[in-house]
Amino acid sequence: MRAVDLIRKKRDSGEHSREEIDFLISGYVRGTIPDYQMAAWLMAIWIRGMSRSELASLTEAMLYSGKVLNHAEIPGRKVDKHSTGGVGDKTSLILAPIVAAGGLTVPMISGRGLGHTGGTLDKLEAIPGFNTGLSLNEFGNVLRECGLALIGQTEEIAPADKKIYALRDATSTVENIGLICASIMSKKLAEGIDALVLDVKTGSGAFMKREEESLALAEVMVETGKRMGKKVVALITDMDQPLGRMAGHSCEIIECLDVLNGHGPDDLRQLSLELAAWMFYLGGRTKSVDEGRSLAETMISTGQAKEKFRHVIRLQGGDDRVVDEPHLLPMARLRSQIKNAAGGYITGTNCEQFGLALAMLGGGREKKEDKIDHSVGLEFHKRIGDRVEKGETLVTIHYNSDARLAEASSLIAASFQTGNEPPGSPRPLVRRILGA
Ligand code: URA
Repeated sequence: MRAVDLIRKKRDSGEHSREEIDFLISGYVRGTIPDYQMAAWLMAIWIRGMSRSELASLTEAMLYSGKVLNHAEIPGRKVDKHSTGGVGDKTSLILAPIVAAGGLTVPMISGRGLGHTGGTLDKLEAIPGFNTGLSLNEFGNVLRECGLALIGQTEEIAPADKKIYALRDATSTVENIGLICASIMSKKLAEGIDALVLDVKTGSGAFMKREEESLALAEVMVETGKRMGKKVVALITDMDQPLGRMAGHSCEIIECLDVLNGHGPDDLRQLSLELAAWMFYLGGRTKSVDEGRSLAETMISTGQAKEKFRHVIRLQGGDDRVVDEPHLLPMARLRSQIKNAAGGYITGTNCEQFGLALAMLGGGREKKEDKIDHSVGLEFHKRIGDRVEKGETLVTIHYNSDARLAEASSLIAASFQTGNEPPGSPRPLVRRILGA
């Protein structure tokens, strides 16, 4: 087999066999297929799509590109949650400590920022010293000791996703149902979990902008998970505006600590509780989702979730003083404000553009080798439906260099839609639930 022939086959709308997909994925992981051929194949997939059987082959090839963990020696159910990605989407760092504090085990393998979206791993690395690159042995030790461990794909776990993910980010091949499904499910199925809650974003800040596309993505992910013997539900949730008030790595950690302290913005708190509730329920810790929600609330109000977060930070080499002294996180030196040009109501946002503006300021990658500036961020003062006066501040930018400030500022200002009338009643945060 030759990669060039398989690229041509997909370019011309052919259907790959399992052997062909195995050849491409194992060759790319071993380095016998170069980046440029994989990039061309990914683009062909992006344009031509994949059949269900190609998708199953791709997910399994990526899953078995590394080890599939089994934490049988740790008693109790293992559960996780994964989001398809958005702006300000930081629920993992809230619900993982909640669920571990509530008695389930959370072996979380996450990704880095992709396109306009942020990644859990990059956020964690804002915490000085936090090591997301634990060996599998260390991962197991942390899990056993505190019921929660947070790492990225390694050379051992889903290495194919690790390599392909970075390449997709730099070649505009992210927004594709099959590629997203294979990427997420290969990582998650390698974790050794019993149950998985998927947060499938929909709206202008999601990869899948239309609800039908998000639903299609949710369906294939639920089907893939169930086929592999896992309990899976997918919540389709709103991403028409940033989740919470903050986007950017240190800023998001601070907002997560606010929620773990019993405060924080309502949308972020509600969604984190809802996802945690489903994790408790699927993990058999509670008899219903409602009971799961109250358990999650208790884990916050008693401070147990915050203590769990402190514990995992310490065990993974991070400076756990940030839990009480968040100013120890990297902070940007400068502030700039985006003001509203004319009075009216916020009727919508082009949320993806906020993520791109943040990346321009250094808070994301434009090339896969780029280093992230964890200190930059966007603080949103207004939400859809809010009334704004002329000259009122919409966003505070936390930044370090003027280099692309003007460009990022115009992008942010242009991303708010305003009108003289308030928009209709707000759309629910959780739009649909699949697989329940
Ligand atoms: N998150 C992932 O892990 N992979 C994708 O492809 C998109 C979001």
